[in-house]
Amino acid sequence: MIVIVKPQAPQEKVNEFIQWIESQNFKTHVSTGDYSTIIGLIGDTSRLQEDQLLSYDIVEAVKKVTEPFKQANRKFHPHDTIVPVGDSGLKIGHGNFAMIAGPCSVESEEQVIGIAKLVKQAGATMLRGGAFKPRTSPYDFQGLKADGIKFLLEAKQETGLPIVSEIMNINHLPLFEDVDVIQVGARNMQNFELLRELGKTNKPILLKRGLANTIKELLMSAEYIMSGGNENVILCERGIRTFETTTRNTLDLSAVPVLHELTHLPVIVDPSHATGVARYVKPMAMAAAACGADGLIIEVHNDPIHALCDGAQSLLPEQFADVAGAVNAIRIAAGSAR
Ligand code: PEP
Ligand code: MN
Repeated sequence: MIVIVKPQAPQEKVNEFIQWIESQNFKTHVSTGDYSTIIGLIGDTSRLQEDQLLSYDIVEAVKKVTEPFKQANRKFHPHDTIVPVGDSGLKIGHGNFAMIAGPCSVESEEQVIGIAKLVKQAGATMLRGGAFKPRTSPYDFQGLKADGIKFLLEAKQETGLPIVSEIMNINHLPLFEDVDVIQVGARNMQNFELLRELGKTNKPILLKRGLANTIKELLMSAEYIMSGGNENVILCERGIRTFETTTRNTLDLSAVPVLHELTHLPVIVDPSHATGVARYVKPMAMAAAACGADGLIIEVHNDPIHALCDGAQSLLPEQFADVAGAVNAIRIAAGSAR
C-alpha cells in the first residue's frame, strides 16, 4: 500500500503519521520527490482500512499495490534510482550509461591489466572480470579466486576503472571489500541466502536475470536485497533459455522497457552471454542502447581463441572500440528511448 502525502503537509505531522504506522507493525519506506512525498507501507496491509488512513489531514490519497515487490516497485518510488559506484564518481541510471567491459575470467595479472588499459581507451567506464566462475562442468577452469580479485584490483589501480566481479559464496565477501560492484550471476539469482546477506552490505549489486526466470522473479530477487536495506541494485538482462539453439540464449530486450515501467532500478544488458557469438554482440548492444538500457556489460579478450572461458563470445579490444562507438552514436540519435 502506498500513501501519497499532501504537498504542503508539515514535516512534524508526516513524522507523527509514520510513527503511528510503524506502531502498527508496518515498515515504512519514504520517498521524497520535488513535488510530493510517498510513503510505502510494507507488511500485511489487508488489515488496514483506507478510510482510517484518509482521516489523517496530511494524506492526499491511498493506493493498493498488488505486486508482491514493494521496494523495487516504481509506484513506491516514481523517480529513477541512480546507483553511485563506490567513490569513483561514476553513476548508473537515469541517463548515466555504464559501459562495462573485460574478460569473462581473470586469467593472469598481465592479461587483465592489458585488457583494462585497452577497454578504457576504447570507452569503457568500468572493468569486469570473473575470479570465481560458475562453470557448468566441475572440470572446467573455475577462476583464479582470491588471486583473480587481487589482479583486478591492480588493474583498477593502474587504470582508475571501477571493477565488477561475481560472488558465489557469501563467505568470500571479505575478499570483495575493494570491489566496486558485486555481481550475482544468473545461476545464483535465486540463491536467497546470498541475496539476503548482500542486502546487509552497502555495495552496489549487479543482479543478473536467471536462465529461466521471469521478470517478476528477477524483481522479487531484487526485493530480497533491498529489504535488507541495500537499495543499490542494478538489474541485468542476459538472455533466457528458449527452444532456440542458434544463439546461446535468447535476448529478451523487451525486458528493458518492461522493467523500466515496473521498477525504478537501472537496467543494463549483457549481449555477450545473451548471444554467445562475438559477431552478434554489436547489433544487440546497439539495440539495447536504442531501447533505453542504462548500460552494457560486454566480454572482451586479448586472445579470444585461447580464452579459458567464453572465447566464442568475446570481442577483441578493437572490436569493442567499434561497438562502443556505434552504441554512442545510437544513444545520441535516440536521444532518450524512454
Ligand atoms: C558472467 O557474467 O561472467 C556470467 C557468468 O554471466 P551469467 O551469470 O549471466 O551467465
Ligand atoms: Mn562469461
